[in-house]
Amino acid sequence: MPEIIIIGGGITGLSAAWEAQQSGISFALLEKEDRWGGKVHTEIIDLPEGQAIIDGGPESFITRKPEAWDLAGELGIRDSVINPGAETRHMYILDGGTPVEVPLAPVKFITSPIMSGFGKLRLLAEPFQPAKSDSADESLADFVSRRLGREALDQFIGPILGGIYNTDPDTQSILVSSPIMREMEAEYGGLVKAVFGRMRKARKNKPVDEEKKPRFGAFAQGLQELTDEMVRQLKGDLRLSVEITKIEKNDAVYQVTLSDGETLSAKSLIFATPANVTAKLLVGVADEASAKLSTIAHQNIGTVTLIYREEDVQTNFRVHGLMIPRREKRAIDAVTFTSLKMPSRSPKGYGMIRVFFGGGKPEVAEVSDAGLLDIVRAELKSTIGITAEPLQIVPFRWLKSFPQANVGHLDFFDEIERTLPEGIYLAGSSYRGIGVPDCIQQGRQAVKKYVTARKALA
Ligand SMILES: Cc1cc2nc3c(=O)[nH]c(=O)nc-3n(C[C@H](O)[C@H](O)[C@H](O)COP(=O)(O)OP(=O)(O)OC[C@H]3O[C@@H](n4cnc5c(N)ncnc54)[C@H](O)[C@@H]3O)c2cc1C
Repeated sequence: MPEIIIIGGGITGLSAAWEAQQSGISFALLEKEDRWGGKVHTEIIDLPEGQAIIDGGPESFITRKPEAWDLAGELGIRDSVINPGAETRHMYILDGGTPVEVPLAPVKFITSPIMSGFGKLRLLAEPFQPAKSDSADESLADFVSRRLGREALDQFIGPILGGIYNTDPDTQSILVSSPIMREMEAEYGGLVKAVFGRMRKARKNKPVDEEKKPRFGAFAQGLQELTDEMVRQLKGDLRLSVEITKIEKNDAVYQVTLSDGETLSAKSLIFATPANVTAKLLVGVADEASAKLSTIAHQNIGTVTLIYREEDVQTNFRVHGLMIPRREKRAIDAVTFTSLKMPSRSPKGYGMIRVFFGGGKPEVAEVSDAGLLDIVRAELKSTIGITAEPLQIVPFRWLKSFPQANVGHLDFFDEIERTLPEGIYLAGSSYRGIGVPDCIQQGRQAVKKYVTARKALA
């Protein structure tokens, strides 16, 4: 009998298993699909001139949150971490059907048509805005308009944040999505002051190793290198393609029945599945938590990578990324020129574009590959003028699987955790942050909580 059964083999569940292994705790890891990694999913396509490396889900991770960087070190694969380059260079926003460059350099900002003169002055007045006097949650939209003005929110910051979190900035919790912004405000009184303050501090206290650490990391062969390596080094009971049909508790032991009739028992269960899946699995085991978890909304999301001959993806302007605000009522949410942003991802002579969909128009995630290609081609033609037929497309879809953290989400989740029976732990993107480092942290933390509870009982 393993001590822990971990349900869900995405980055969260694998990280929980890794932590269990490091702590000498036996575990079984159960995954419904026939592959590990969940949304961490890399496809490598052989082309006559070399390979195209395509991440369907996450492509990079932030290193300010150290968990992914540290895990790569523990696994001995730090050498495979590459710098994916700046996310912000040559970034455009679609405004009234026309791509407008996000003005990050001072001269571009002054001359940019993206905001009125008044909007620009309001943004520049950020250091003079009072800091929030309490620690209560608020929406991304409220935070940005409070500090930088409503126009900055509507014209570009809202669309960028909405695109990153596949959400509506008016409802999304700042404390889940960007707690760093609130920390900066609390510590220094404002964002600009915080940027300078932190730069001064960093210069003084920089550890030697930090010199080599990029702000973002990616893996040379795609992010799945991380999950594949964990699977390679894990030595517990790892099972793919298993359906759970029933979970029961008998005398402080949980019994998990699988679709082939086998029953596994353990003192503790870690659910590393999205909250809407966990809600169903917990019926009869933790009914109150189950009912609350089922109210956390999960959006559709998908990406499709299009591989072209290089000459077919020339545009009139240098564009690495295009964010499409929901007010534009388009069928796609964002476009990234992977072959420009990360040239090592495709062989010479090819151009690669990744298109995000499912946020603005959730139904797009449910159409066939052929239908999706028609929709995406029409959108690329009318937004950035690309008309050629791609050589190949590689689509990925996750239906009702991208969590939405509304204002008050962290308090709500605290409430849910308080109702959980002994031995049940929840971790993953539906709870305390959606990024890869957040998921690793939560997976590992679930095991640490189990260890603390076990010690308390001993
Ligand atoms: C398109 C996209 C781009 C992203 N880009 C980034 C990025 O650049 N950087 C970043 O940090 N983050 C990014 N993210 C977010 C990040 O990828 C996810 O939040 C994270 O991978 C979620 O991991 P998870 O293990 O919690 O969930 P999942 O990956 O969803 O894993 C859950 C697992 O549980 C399994 N499962 C479901 N039901 C059952 C069941 N009944 N029994 C057993 N197993 C079950 C699923 O099959 C799945 O494998 C992106 C996400 C998407 C979708």
